[in-house]
Amino acid sequence: MDYSFADRTKNFESSAVRDILNVIQQGNVISFAGGLPCEELFPLAAVQSAYEKVLASGNASMQYGLTEGFTPLREGISEWMKDKGIKTDPSRILLTTGSQQAIYLFSRIMISDGDVVLTENPTYLSALQVFRSFGANVVSVEGDEHGMNPDDLEEKIKRCKPKFIYVIPTFSNPDGKVWSTERRQRLLELCYQYDVLVLEDDPYGEIKFDESITYPSVASFDHKQTHVLYTSTFSKTVVPALRTGWITGPAEVIAMMSQAKQMVDLHSSSIDQQALYFVLRDFDLKGHIQQLRKEYYKRMMLMQDYLNKLTPGTFTWKEPKGGMFLWVKGQEDLNTTALLSEAVAKGVAFVPGVQFYAMNPKENTFRLNYSYPSPEKINLGMDRLVSVLLNGVPV
Ligand code: PMP
Repeated sequence: MDYSFADRTKNFESSAVRDILNVIQQGNVISFAGGLPCEELFPLAAVQSAYEKVLASGNASMQYGLTEGFTPLREGISEWMKDKGIKTDPSRILLTTGSQQAIYLFSRIMISDGDVVLTENPTYLSALQVFRSFGANVVSVEGDEHGMNPDDLEEKIKRCKPKFIYVIPTFSNPDGKVWSTERRQRLLELCYQYDVLVLEDDPYGEIKFDESITYPSVASFDHKQTHVLYTSTFSKTVVPALRTGWITGPAEVIAMMSQAKQMVDLHSSSIDQQALYFVLRDFDLKGHIQQLRKEYYKRMMLMQDYLNKLTPGTFTWKEPKGGMFLWVKGQEDLNTTALLSEAVAKGVAFVPGVQFYAMNPKENTFRLNYSYPSPEKINLGMDRLVSVLLNGVPV
């Protein structure tokens, strides 16, 4: 049967990370590949008690809800945002099925075939998938450890007239990078000057290892509240299964996204949103986040200790200041896709870096996740990985 799918499906790509996860789930492979949070620290008791409160609150709690989402939760998020220096209000917050849906809905209302979206390089693979599925021409901007290069950014804004610029300025996926404050401000200045929107994706901002440092979001500088769409999620701070994220930004844009959302699912699960409301109200989420920070730091340092055993200069990385990933570069002639087959044969997996590049993929990079594997698994898996890396791999 020829199913003759719609033309738009020609731009659909399967996520290489999900494909890798499927393969490795079958064997006895220790995975540093997925971007999963630590299961042992999931606040199960708090989540259970929150759902009990929802169910006890009567039949109306099981009714259809607003497309924008459960109002008391939007009020709670609005307060949370104020703590981060982002001025918003519940009417400009749309609750979504994870921040993934926020990226999807924003793309749906902004991207016409052939429109340019500017991104970092490398960047979040599943955002690239979404942009391309709407026919975007994704163009990457040069950058360094401090963020996008402002000169290249300005040149590309002038030349490509992008629909928007997608950035993950705090502990990026995949490379864990943190933008300097100056680069964040410069990005916004350029966006004001040339009237371009920013989609700021911030799933990892809370997972900072040094609590005394503040990483101001780009949205917090948008005093006009006109140019930045800010999205975040409870997937990394509470649990991903709640599938609850949010986006905030200019009222007109949020209203258009809300219309798009009506067509997708009327609204995201209101049981989950109500449960989250009780989690925020009754559980010490800030204390829980502190625990996550400590544990992830410990795991990152443990993983890094193994990388330190490699011959200096053969592999390089920057110690992450937060988030869930270590991003490693090998020598120029290394091919990490070939390396992955060897690693899986030895019982350990990672994600080859090529997957994350919008343009000019670098074959010699790979991403390691340290939040999901227990310290015991990190010991075992890194022993295996180091032996593969030390043996060298054909190019
Ligand atoms: N953005 C980035 C950069 C991510 O890494 C992820 C999850 N891996 C998401 C968005 C989506 O997360 P969720 O839909 O669970 O909120």
